Amino acid sequence: SVKTSHHRRVVVLGAPRVGKTAIVRRFLGEQGFQEEYEPTSEDFHSKLYHIRGERYQLDILDASKERDFPARRRLTILTGDIFLLVFSVTDSESFSEVCSLRQEILTAKAKLSKTKENRQPPIIICANKTDLASSRTVHPPQIRQSIRDDSVHFEVSAKDCANLEAMFEALAVLGGLPSETR
Ligand code: GDP
Repeated sequence: SVKTSHHRRVVVLGAPRVGKTAIVRRFLGEQGFQEEYEPTSEDFHSKLYHIRGERYQLDILDASKERDFPARRRLTILTGDIFLLVFSVTDSESFSEVCSLRQEILTAKAKLSKTKENRQPPIIICANKTDLASSRTVHPPQIRQSIRDDSVHFEVSAKDCANLEAMFEALAVLGGLPSETR
């Protein structure tokens, strides 16, 4: 039988050690939290989500590995529908990296829109490790000021699972692609 569904390609970007892997693991429904750091290679995961009667397929790409390959990263950016830019609230440099990634995405997509029909992609700024409140150096007013109104910002902890479900739902629902029939 034919169902209405939505298909989104989510690209996860951010500095090393900010918790991208931990977040993707939570997204995939893993219960355990890994304290030990393990550098990841690029990884592609798929998950079906059902939200208010709609079916969403989210393909999540952890693009960490492309950090040192600007040309590949540009290609990844061009194929992404939604971007999850992760930083750690205990690491100001990781926030700067998110700000420049955001700019890179907006510039790349603006170029594309001159040739193909396209619009600004949804960008979600993910402030992770909020459980480490006492060593926090990046605070909400600074985040809001830097990203202005065209990106959404979630305060999460992959360790505590704080606010993660809300963010995952936003990933599905904010995706700008028109419904597909499959
Ligand atoms: P990645 O390099 O961005 O994929 O980062 P990882 O997911 O591998 O996490 C790097 C380190 O930060 C690991 O030691 C994790 O256990 C830790 N970590 C990830 N998320 C959180 C969090 O929300 N709170 C705390 N306290 N630690 C976290």
